[in-house]
Amino acid sequence: MTFVICEPCTKELFCVDVCPVDCIQGGPDEEQMYIDPATCTDCAACEPVCPVSAIFFEDDVPAKWQSFISKNADFFKS
Ligand code: SF4
Ligand code: SF4
Repeated sequence: MTFVICEPCTKELFCVDVCPVDCIQGGPDEEQMYIDPATCTDCAACEPVCPVSAIFFEDDVPAKWQSFISKNADFFKS
């Protein structure tokens, strides 16, 4: 399982600062940051520090943002 960053992300990067395995990444042209599902350890450190509540455990991603599960994973395939 993994944590997933969804639509509200405003790239404020608080999550990046607390992630112990550096699996949250993004690019200058990206609208949001992404979590690498292959590296995320489900530690949950990132979830409470996000000021816009954009981060969810995979099983808890709201129905309207289900597409963000693959969107996060796909970023790391490129
Ligand atoms: S998920 Fe939240 S804390 Fe992380 S970059 Fe996006 S807005 Fe910032
Ligand atoms: S749950 Fe932990 S390992 Fe996964 S992205 Fe968040 S801080 Fe990083």
